[in-house]
Amino acid sequence: MANIGYLQVVRHCNHFCGFCSNPTSPYEHTLETMKVLVDDLVGRGYFGVVLTGGEPTLHPQLPDIARYASEQGLHVRMITNGWKLGDRSFARALGEAGLSIAHVSIYSVRTAIEHKLRGIEGTLERAFASLEAAHEAGIEINVNCVINKLNADHLDENVRVIVERAPWVRHFVWNNLDPSMGRAEVNQAELTPRLGDFELSLHRALAFLEKSGRTYRVERVPLCYMTDFSHASTETRKIVKGEERVVHFLDDKQTVRQTDWEHVYAEGCTSCSLRSICGGLFDRGNAYDPGELAPVFVPLEPIVRRVMTDGEDPAITPSNFDYAAWQRAHEARRAFPRRSRDADLPPQVERGDGPAVGLVTEESLKRFGAKRRAEAKLAERLGVTQEKGTLEPSVTPRRES
Ligand code: SF4
Repeated sequence: MANIGYLQVVRHCNHFCGFCSNPTSPYEHTLETMKVLVDDLVGRGYFGVVLTGGEPTLHPQLPDIARYASEQGLHVRMITNGWKLGDRSFARALGEAGLSIAHVSIYSVRTAIEHKLRGIEGTLERAFASLEAAHEAGIEINVNCVINKLNADHLDENVRVIVERAPWVRHFVWNNLDPSMGRAEVNQAELTPRLGDFELSLHRALAFLEKSGRTYRVERVPLCYMTDFSHASTETRKIVKGEERVVHFLDDKQTVRQTDWEHVYAEGCTSCSLRSICGGLFDRGNAYDPGELAPVFVPLEPIVRRVMTDGEDPAITPSNFDYAAWQRAHEARRAFPRRSRDADLPPQVERGDGPAVGLVTEESLKRFGAKRRAEAKLAERLGVTQEKGTLEPSVTPRRES
């Protein structure tokens, strides 16, 4: 297995997306508090770490934590909006520090839509500049995209334009919008798509990538909406491989561990041939409709074989894959009872044991209050609803002064 952990480096951002599920919090990291979490992932035997946020490039010690994680033997990745990474010297510093992969987010190649989704102008060209700067710095680039109501009909146009302008991008990742947290929760009506809104354009995008020999992953999309590309579902791959994920949230959730990749299912799912490897419908936030699910009747084995013999997956050791043995292990894993849900946590996760994540100080509380007030003005100007929570920072318990 090649488990990967997530470390939220900061929780503020220089963009203001209406579907942000991890907006500003009063918690902050020093290099030392991040090192402890890297050590935690190393101690768990994890393969890699994803440095994320907020916007991780806004932390002044990002290259230092990338270097430390790399020196501890972790494969280091970063998810970024691509604004600061367009600075060539910064990209070089990250490459030299050991950053292997940068996931740069591009939601739409239509400038007006990208601008509307990001809340500021000029983001698309900056993102393309970051694809070039990272490439020059020897950092592998993946392009990430949150599927939402405004880009649902042109996901295929996005990949065609990106591949034309940056042919060195070999891997694309789609995350269907998580409508359960942050601003995504309060802007559902404007931004959460129906599954049917993107089915066709996603299919065209994946078919294009498959034909061009590129790789791709899709998260929070039921297999009946990507049946021909089921091997690329993030949930399916983790179910098939029996993987887990730890997220060090830089907020009150702290460390959570996810070993269960199943969401909710409709009545028809019981007759679906892919039920045992499908993540179902993402159920937090009550934004998606189980009525959109429809069983499929395709063979399971080729999908499992494609996942388990994927030579580009660090979790896979080339060997003769034994499907019968996999079936036995898979059934044994499924026999475990599902945990009860914790209403305060993201889906299918449990509160993880682990060190404290970040610090809340008098100074960080003041910065949090100032950011919330500035963002409230921005939200009003953009017509975006600000996430739940008071403008005053004192609601969060102070952890350290
Ligand atoms: S019908 Fe249910 S089990 Fe089958 S692919 Fe759709 S969501 Fe998954």
